Amino acid sequence: MFFDGLGLAALFEILGIISALLILVGLAIVIITVILGYFLVKKNKLLFPQVFLYIMDNFHPILLKLCLMIGTEDTFYRIGIDFYNRYYYQYFKRAERKVLILPHCLRDIKCPAKLGINGVECVFCNRCPLGSIIKVARDNNYEVYIIPGSTFIKRILKEKNPTGVFGVSCYRDLFYGMNYLSRRGIPVQGQPLLKDGCICTSVDMEELLTRIRDSR
Ligand code: SF4
Repeated sequence: MFFDGLGLAALFEILGIISALLILVGLAIVIITVILGYFLVKKNKLLFPQVFLYIMDNFHPILLKLCLMIGTEDTFYRIGIDFYNRYYYQYFKRAERKVLILPHCLRDIKCPAKLGINGVECVFCNRCPLGSIIKVARDNNYEVYIIPGSTFIKRILKEKNPTGVFGVSCYRDLFYGMNYLSRRGIPVQGQPLLKDGCICTSVDMEELLTRIRDSR
């Protein structure tokens, strides 16, 4: 027998205290996030950004569950993306090696581009908006990649070692991509698609091109 009656009671007491502490910490995170989220969404103010960043980077599954009680999954991703965009805006502007990552689903269904080692190799046929985005981004010192999947991102990070990453994607993928980069300390910006899905998606071109030009 490892524990007698008294030892067992003490063990349960310690476990009870640990559980109560964990619940208190969880509640504190929830309350802090609700307050910070309220100011971000309703008052357009980013309060205690470092605290919000730590919570968003490390406790996003709890925040997502909380958000599902009052809204949709996309509501949470929208708040998260908005937060990362605001938090990293100035850091991203100062980044020297910027990379723009575009989703291949923006391509036209008859896209003649081939898939190469660095993703889809656009031939600027003007059938979709990607060609114009690439030209503006290159003029503004971005390296641009049209990627068919998330494994490409990891390789680009490893090989190109960017100091700033701008991504375009659907809400869910964009949030998790920004979260992944943020946890690695890489300044990030992101723009969600207007219409998502696997093919012929769309993006707000005016907003995207303005943001690319503005991030110099
Ligand atoms: S502009 Fe580029 S990405 Fe778009 S359809 Fe033409 S080749 Fe494909």
